[in-house]
Order: sequence, then C-alpha cells, then structure tokens
Amino acid sequence: MMSGRAAVSRTTETATDRLLHPQEAREIIARFLYALPEEMVPLAAAPWRVLARDVVATEDHPPFPAATMDGYAVVAEDPSPWREIVGRQTAGSVAPIAVDLGTAAWITTGAPVPPGATAVVPVEATEIADDHVIVHEERIEPGANIRPIGVDLAKGTRVLAAGSLIGPAEIGLLAALGVDPVPVVHRPRVSILSTGNELVEPAQQPGPGQIRDSNRFSLIAAAEETGAEVVWSGRGPDEMDALRAALLARIADSDVVITSGGVSMGDLDLIKPLLGELAVVHFRRLFMKPGKPFNFATAGKTLIFGLPGNPVSALVGFEIFIRPALRTLQGMREIDRPLTRVRLVRAAYSSDRIEYQRAVVSIDEDGELVAATTGSQASSRLASLLGANALIVIPPGSEPIEAGARVDAVLIGPLQGPAGR
Ligand code: AMP
Ligand code: MG
Repeated sequence: MMSGRAAVSRTTETATDRLLHPQEAREIIARFLYALPEEMVPLAAAPWRVLARDVVATEDHPPFPAATMDGYAVVAEDPSPWREIVGRQTAGSVAPIAVDLGTAAWITTGAPVPPGATAVVPVEATEIADDHVIVHEERIEPGANIRPIGVDLAKGTRVLAAGSLIGPAEIGLLAALGVDPVPVVHRPRVSILSTGNELVEPAQQPGPGQIRDSNRFSLIAAAEETGAEVVWSGRGPDEMDALRAALLARIADSDVVITSGGVSMGDLDLIKPLLGELAVVHFRRLFMKPGKPFNFATAGKTLIFGLPGNPVSALVGFEIFIRPALRTLQGMREIDRPLTRVRLVRAAYSSDRIEYQRAVVSIDEDGELVAATTGSQASSRLASLLGANALIVIPPGSEPIEAGARVDAVLIGPLQGPAGR
C-alpha cells in the first residue's frame, strides 16, 4: 500500500508530466495571460509599439477643399473658355480671393480652393493670354481635381483600433491626427537564461567537450521580434545554487523568464526541479516533436518557460507557445501566425508525436502553395530553420505522408514564389 502522501505527490507528478497536446498547452498558458498596462510615449518612439486605445479622428481630413493638381480654380459651369486671373493660391496659406463666372485663380496642389470655385483645371489643359487663362476643356466636371473636406478621413470615424501594431501607415495617421504622445502597451520585460556546463560565450574558444551558447542569442532575437524588451540575458552552470539565485532574481524583475536546457531527465537537468521549488508548474511535457520537454510555470504574475536545450526545440517551442504569449501581453489584436494548407513536394515521415517540420513554402506556377522541408529535421540542426518560412504540421503515425498530400502549415515568414512587382 502506498501512503496517502506518496499517492498525492504521484497524482501531481502525473498531471504535470502528462504529454500534453500543443493546443491544450496553449490553452493552459492562455489562462495566465493578461494585457500589460499602457504608457505614453512620444510619437517618434512609437514605431512598432502596440496602440493601447482606439483612435478616433477629431478633425476632417483634408480640413479644407484642396486642389489635387496644379492649375486654375474655376467655376465648372462657366460656359466661356476665357477667364480673368484674379490671383494666386498656393499651399500653406489662404489668399484673399474668390472665384466667380469669368474668373480663375492660379492654384497649386494641396492649396485650399478659393470660395466660388467648383473645379480645378490642370495647367496642361490651359493657355495664358495676357491676364487671362483659356481653358481647353469642353466640359469641366463640377468637383474635378478637388479633394472635398473629410474625404480621406471624416471627423468621428475610428481610424485605428486598440491592439494595432504601429507600422508606417499607422504612425502616419497618428501624426496626421496630432496624436503625440501616443498611448501604447508596455513591452513585456523578458529575461533569458541559458543553462549548461558545456556552454561558453560565442567569442570564446570552446575547450574539450564544450560548445558555444547559441540559444541565448536566438531567443533574444525571437523575443525582440515580438516587440518584447529583453531586460537581462545570461548563462548559468548546471549547479543548483547558481541557477536558483539566477531564477529568483529574474522572476523578481521580469514579466517573462525564458530558460533553455536542463528540463530533461538527467541528474543535471536542474531547471525542472528548481521550477517545482520556486514556482507553480503547470505542465512539463508535450506531445510534439521537436521539444517534448517544455516546462511552463508561474511565480506570481511572472510566466516562466523552460525550453529544452536543443536549438531547434528551443526555437520551435518559442514560436508555438512563447511568441503568442508575448504578443498577448502586449495587447496585440493579432496573436497567431497564419495557418494554411500546403501541398507536400516530397513525402514526409511521421513520428510518434505531432511534428513541426521546418519547410520552405512557395507559390507555384498555378498559384498553389507547395512545401519542401529544409533537409535533416534533427532538433540539434539549427540550419533546418535557415530560410524556413513555415512549420508544417505532420500528424503522428507510422505511415509516411505521400508527396502531393496536403498538410497544415504555420507561416512563420514571407512566402517565396515567382517574384512579384
Ligand atoms: P539539455 O536540454 O540541457 O539536455 O540540452 C540538450 C542539447 O542542447 C545538448 O546537446 C546541449 O549541449 C544543447 N544545448 C543546450 N543549451 C544550449 C545552448 N544554449 N546553445 C546551444 N546548444 C545548447
Ligand atoms: Mg543541459
């Protein structure tokens, strides 16, 4: 008979050690996610941040009827081709002129159309004779070459939604609307810790049995791509006290802590027991390849992701679980990568778990999406991620999936294909 205590601890072990389907794991992580608070930043610091509030146009754009061509502001309905030039209206000011039947004002692109004028005739369609302009257009459409008030943006319309990523178009609109400073969501503070006695700094020459730490740098790039702020990164040995101290310090000053290595079954895999000691562990293993050992824990509001050490496992785990988490913390509207169906160029070999194979997806001659894997899919072979723009999802099984079959693909980069223009 087992004692009561042993039975309880075994049940806990079983719950966190169960091989979780990736979707179930994502749902568990999602329960601990929230949006960080907003802060105000100067407009110039707002590119690639996430807007914290909806933005409504408080003014019409353009704020006045504006000429869209250089030419002459006229009364469209005026039957006479001859018009007396009454003045010049250039962009940036308002000239004290009005246009009536028989008159015209010289006008530049972007200038306010003078009162009375109902169209702008392009300069190419005119000819000057003394102080008159002769219009060579038989019929002038009322409103021609005039941008009416509010045609680009009407006052009161919602221009940008909270959660939008501020790219070139968004920031241009914020500038045009006079939104400065800009309410944005805080960037998640992320710490990244590589673990392993075998690791040395990239600038060092590895000694016997040593390798350079590459995960730290891959994970910094991956975290920064999401918009997160990496506030600390470092490396620790497979040594309890050192790792405990590093974890405690990082948990205290980070929204998210990401570790790599030390989550497998070996005696020196210490992240696993340390998370059990310092945090609440929600799961440890996934029904996926690469990256079966994957620890997710929380300590207060801090999320802790313990990635396996193999470079591909670490990055694929980041992609599927941590990237969406970091985007959710930033309040982004779009969290996930696009999922699509692709045709396999070559047969794919299934494993005993859901496998995310790295692939290049391109658009073929018929406009169809086709996928070719990037060579050996070993979880240590970081080169399998080079140039990969998709993770194709190979369901578990014993039979290979034939060339020509369709599978799901998570698009992680731009599509390749016949060059567009
Ligand atoms: P682990 O998850 O600690 O058992 O490590 C699995 C494999 O990944 C081992 O071959 C490690 O040497 C390798 N590895 C662990 N951490 C890193 C790292 N930061 N950079 C490159 N390789 C690593
Ligand atoms: Mg290790």
